[in-house]
Amino acid sequence: MDCSKYLAALDLKADYAECPYCGATFPLGKNGSGFCSFCEGFYDESVEAGREDDLAQMAGLHSFIKKSALSELEKALASLQPKTLDPFTLFAKGSFYRYLSNYRYYDLDYNRQGFMEENSSNIYESLDLTAKYKEFFYKAIKVSKEKYSASPNEILQYMQFITNLKLKRRFQAGLALREMKTSAKNRELLDYSEMAYLAESADGNALEMIGRLSEAGNLNSLYYLGEYLVLKKLFKDAEHVLQALIDKVEMHEAAYLLHRVRTFIDETSL
Ligand SMILES: [Zn+2]
Repeated sequence: MDCSKYLAALDLKADYAECPYCGATFPLGKNGSGFCSFCEGFYDESVEAGREDDLAQMAGLHSFIKKSALSELEKALASLQPKTLDPFTLFAKGSFYRYLSNYRYYDLDYNRQGFMEENSSNIYESLDLTAKYKEFFYKAIKVSKEKYSASPNEILQYMQFITNLKLKRRFQAGLALREMKTSAKNRELLDYSEMAYLAESADGNALEMIGRLSEAGNLNSLYYLGEYLVLKKLFKDAEHVLQALIDKVEMHEAAYLLHRVRTFIDETSL
């Protein structure tokens, strides 16, 4: 498949923002808003960084990733106990654990012969981290719902959607999307959610939305193009798109998806 029209988004000049949830720096779309390439949290002018002290502290943890100090990150995460049950803080904490879990899992040395002792301990550590990220994502969904019923806010709706999608709870993600469609006024949140949902369903309509979002400078849409291509078994195209994306943006989910695609290509070309 020719993906050049989507990849043109990578040549657009972008402003960058610091994510108020996880502290990562990411490119904004043409209209000055966008989705973090680390946690997919939504940012626009209405979202103030550091609304909660806990969240500001959590966002500060991103500096450990910049320094590749992952065991320090893990220690800091374990010791940071949020004082309030804020859905964004829970989401950020879950996102860091998800990063650590992916990192551990894919850091295994597959080239070694046999099943080495250190690899198996890596797998068990990764499973532990997976349980942790799921725990915080489930809590974030629960608290988002409670906060939403007290004070409706479309970012809380989006948070429920994206967290369910990351947990592979398609049914719940679909329900959250349906709710957004009836009430959300922010077109960008709605389009992004719909694109992500359709791409992960390998629905051909995803391409039109990816086209629209990538034209508006949304680079995360290229990650979803990668997912769509994988589901359509177009592995070489997926590899091309994901590599071009991570050459431009630091997006760990895209790097891990690329790793999975390459492993699959290697295994099937034996
Ligand atoms: Zn973020």
